[in-house]
Formats: sequence, C-alpha cells, structure tokens
Amino acid sequence: MNDVRIDDLPVRDELRGKSPYGAPQLDVPVRLNTNENPYPLPEPLVERIAERVREAARNLNRYPDRDAVELRTKLAEYLTDTSGHQVGPANVWAANGSNEVIQQLLQTFGGPGRTAIGFEPSYSMHGLIARGTGTGWISGPRNEDFTIDLAAAEKAIAENRPDVVFITTPNNPTGNAVPPETVLALYEAAQAAKPSMVVVDEAYIEFSHGDSLLPLLDERPNLVVSRTMSKAFGAAGLRLGYLAAHPAVVDAVQLVRLPYHLSAVTQATALAALEHTATLLGYVEQLKAERDRLVTELRETGYEVVESDANFVQFGRFDGEGGAHTAWQKILDRGVLVRDNGIPGWLRVSAGTPEENDAFLDAVRALKKEQS
Ligand code: PMP
Repeated sequence: MNDVRIDDLPVRDELRGKSPYGAPQLDVPVRLNTNENPYPLPEPLVERIAERVREAARNLNRYPDRDAVELRTKLAEYLTDTSGHQVGPANVWAANGSNEVIQQLLQTFGGPGRTAIGFEPSYSMHGLIARGTGTGWISGPRNEDFTIDLAAAEKAIAENRPDVVFITTPNNPTGNAVPPETVLALYEAAQAAKPSMVVVDEAYIEFSHGDSLLPLLDERPNLVVSRTMSKAFGAAGLRLGYLAAHPAVVDAVQLVRLPYHLSAVTQATALAALEHTATLLGYVEQLKAERDRLVTELRETGYEVVESDANFVQFGRFDGEGGAHTAWQKILDRGVLVRDNGIPGWLRVSAGTPEENDAFLDAVRALKKEQS
C-alpha cells in the first residue's frame, strides 16, 4: 500500500501527471528568487501586530468578521490615498493572498465550459488556477521584447471569446508595465467579443514608474484590479490579497468565497500593517533605487535586461539549449538563488538589500568573465 501514487487515485484528468507549483525553497545565503521584500517588518510594527493579535485572540471562540469590514475600509483608504481615485469599502474585497482573490474570480466568472486568457510569459499561476477551477486556459501572444502585441492580443480575444482576460502590470516575470492605452484597448476588445471580465493584476504596482490603473474602474463594471500585501508591504507571510472593482463584482465573489475565509488573526495583522503604511512604503523607495542599480550594473556587465517597473529584473541572454539553467546553477554555486522561470535564455532576480544585490552582481560578473 506504500507505493500508491497520485495517478493511482481517481484524481481529475487534468491533474494527472502534474506537479505542484512552487519555486525551490533552498537554504542559501542570498535568496532573490520569489520577489519577496528583503526587509523584515520594523520592530514597532511587530509590537503593534502582537497587540492587535492579542486582542483578536480574546475572541477566537467566535468566527471572525465574515465581511472584513474594518480591513476593507482601511484598504480602500490606502487605495484612495495612493491613487487619487476614490475607492470605498464596497469596492474592495480581501482574501488569503491575491492567489485566492484570483481563484475566487475564476470560480465566479470562469469554471467548466468557460475560458480565460493571459499573455505569456506572465504569472503562471493564472493558468494553474484556471486549471484548478476547471476553466479552459488560452495562452495569448507577446512580442519578442515581451511587450503585449496589441493587434495579436485583440485577434486572440476576438477569436477565442474568453470569459476572463488577465493583464499583469508590471508583468511577472519580465518586469515591464503595460501602457494604460493597451489595457483600455483590450478591455474594449473583451467587451466586444463576449463581454468578459478583465482582471488587471497589479501585484507589483507600488514599484512602478507609472500609475495604477484604478481610475479606469469608473464606468467599467467588468474591470477588476487585484493587489497584494506580499510585495510592497513586505508581508508575504501574512497572506493578504485584495481587489478593487464595482460593488457588484464584490457581491458576486461572495457567492463562491468560503464563509469566514479570512481569519481574525489575519485581519488583525493586516490592520496593524496598514497603520504603518508610510514606513513600509519607504522601503519601496529603497527597493526601486536598488532595482534601477541592478538594471544599470547588469547592462554595464554586458547582460541584456528587460526594462523593469517591478521589484525584480529579467536578465540574459544565456545562449544554447539549457543555457539559462546552467547559468542559474553557476549563480547558485556562488551562494545566490535566482529564478529560472523556464523562459529560454533568461533568468529573473528580485531586488534585495544592497548587500544581497552586491553578492548577486559579483556572481554574475564572475559568470560573465568565465563565459567570455
Ligand atoms: N500576482 C502576481 C503577478 C504575482 O507575481 C504574485 C506572487 N508571486 C501573485 C499575484 C500572488 O501573490 P500573493 O498570493 O502572495 O498575494
């Protein structure tokens, strides 16, 4: 009985032969592979979390606020303050990471007999969550330079008439932002074709040179902006993602959310973090400067770099079959873990602390010398 494997079980056909998603969690000195924020939470915030969680603990015999009203109010204030666009609690919904937000959106607007499209390479979880929710996945095209090929994307939408369209800006893993005109054109194309929901994944927007697309929500009930506290707020371990949209979208996702999905401890911790927004956004400025330094120094060393609006940089090129993977291993041998997303010729590095970035730059300089 010990040799029973997944495929010996009566699992769904689309899960057969598949492996779970996840970057390697290796214990090496410098980990720059999952676009985390390298700065631990500041001590005053740690104290505030402890206080808020202590308060919440007194009521853990009760279920949490199912509608997370206080948290949604504070998230709405954050969005309004940082975008200049008025967002209220009725426009906001929160879940355990933006992955869960995306899952709820696909459960609501995708599902069996329906399809979703993304323009790849992009965040691979969009396709995997589609599969997990029984939604068909369509891989849309991109240009050689990783920008969205608007004409080809519009054609793919018109031909496939997807129910959900994903646009990731800044895009992961390539780092480039999508111009607002492109998002608007794709929204129009999606409405003409179906109409469908357009989900703009802004997980990295706080690191961008440009602005959030939140103002586009006005008069566009089929548009959703998804966000996370995992990156700019430096709270990947918290698991808090959220969306902004028309209140009807927020009502619709309630049809699929599990009751009490957001624990009282999660809500208390997120509220404490939001009290320290100013300090946390200070780290974002440091990371943006470090990201720009990575771009400059990688180019000076002779690497190609995709323009980045995120807290990571895609760099290459590594020629030959498996060239990127060989380079990944050599960088790892020097104690630095970066990400091989399987894009031929390219690797991705997350911006770390100045010291971590120095270690990474030393490693790639040595690699360049070895290869020339
Ligand atoms: N969207 C994008 C584009 C991402 O890169 C990530 C995390 N890597 C997520 C969503 C999910 O983030 P989380 O579930 O931590 O909020």
